[in-house]
Amino acid sequence: MHAPANPNAALVEVRGLKHLYHKGGASDLLVLDDVDLTLREGEIVALLGRSGSGKSTLLRIIAGLLPPSAGTVAIGGRPVDGPAPEVAMVFQSFALFPWLTVLENVEIGLEAQGLPSEERRQRALGAIDLIGLDGFESAYPKELSGGMRQRVGLARALVVHPQVLLMDEPFSALDVLTAETLRTDLLELWAEGRMPIEAILMVTHNIEEAVLMCDRILVFSSNPGRIVAEIMVELPQPRNRLDPEFRALVDDIYGRMTARVAAAPAKEGLPSGNGIGMILPGGSTNRLAGLMEALVTPPFNGDADLPRLAEELGLEVDELFPIAESLQLLRFAEVAEGDIRLTEAGRRFVDLDVDDRKRLFAQHLISYVPLAAHIKRILDERPSHRAPAIRFQDELEDHMSEDYAQETLRAVTSWARYAEVFAYDEATGAFSLENPS
Ligand code: ADP
Ligand code: MG
Repeated sequence: MHAPANPNAALVEVRGLKHLYHKGGASDLLVLDDVDLTLREGEIVALLGRSGSGKSTLLRIIAGLLPPSAGTVAIGGRPVDGPAPEVAMVFQSFALFPWLTVLENVEIGLEAQGLPSEERRQRALGAIDLIGLDGFESAYPKELSGGMRQRVGLARALVVHPQVLLMDEPFSALDVLTAETLRTDLLELWAEGRMPIEAILMVTHNIEEAVLMCDRILVFSSNPGRIVAEIMVELPQPRNRLDPEFRALVDDIYGRMTARVAAAPAKEGLPSGNGIGMILPGGSTNRLAGLMEALVTPPFNGDADLPRLAEELGLEVDELFPIAESLQLLRFAEVAEGDIRLTEAGRRFVDLDVDDRKRLFAQHLISYVPLAAHIKRILDERPSHRAPAIRFQDELEDHMSEDYAQETLRAVTSWARYAEVFAYDEATGAFSLENPS
């Protein structure tokens, strides 16, 4: 594999990192809390976490593009206190200049280094060649496929010969086949020692991608972002997704991530005491019902391995987790160690007709989702049986970011509407009771 000059030497050291985003209003948003991380020479490390968990924020801090609220970053022992020249970054969105050619887009990576133009050109051509873009030097981004554009993004990062390559979900905007080709090409270059870099830190929400590519996986929790597990991947490269050991590891990581999910509503990471401030994972009632229906039918018969279920339904982790979490929250399912199992109520739900499903859902919604009960209580108490949504939005923002508050309110609204508990009127921005008693 890759032969580093000083294997195991710490290249990037992150200590006690904390980051708050200042919001306009009263409370700040704690995005990263107490993050410690070491990236060593010769390794590819994945930072695996869900969207909104602070992964991009962490990468920007490491690159010196954003000063942390507390804690330190050092690269090769040098404290980072501004854009770090040792680091180059690849973005999900490619971030190319549309009015520049491939060659110019790559050369731009060298702008800051003050190299003579001939050397700049040679280095850029070398990077373009390395990454398989030979012959496209004078093409413009709009003439390229997504995969080729990301190759330009990679060439631009590599042309500076950075010590550390940071990649922020670099394959997630690409179609499945293109993404896989690029992953494989990258791993091959790395294994052959042809990449002018010493270590890679890659952000992803895709478990299989992390297991396929990385020597080590750091599992990142949400809200605030924190490293909750470290997993060594010792399978030899090139790895095979169908290898039983590969599957077992993917299952194990699913298990760890869902174990957190299972513990989440009651435990740390969710600040509020009364439960109203709990972030609702969401998922439309259609999807919730669909998953329960898929679960009762063979081969699952009420109990499924999450990765298999995801495969069966053609869903990705990011899509399946929220649905599974919501079912767990509503006590229609239990999630443990990478498995999801319908509860008695979940099985009953599937057998009911439309109206009885709604009634059962309403019961569970009011009993197990404190925010739904809270909104209903306020509406019950008011003579008008109406209340502006903004009032609840503000309340939620004491506990979570504006985005999460919006999503949480959206989730509870769609569930309540389905269950005919309360409704939201777009025109007035108010909640109202569906069936005031
Ligand atoms: P990820 O990359 O894991 O999806 P991010 O680091 O992009 O997560 O964002 C983490 C959280 O911080 C999210 O809730 C997001 O809305 C919030 N956030 C990101 N950037 C800013 C910003 N510039 N100002 C305020 N909040 C932000
Ligand atoms: Mg991100």
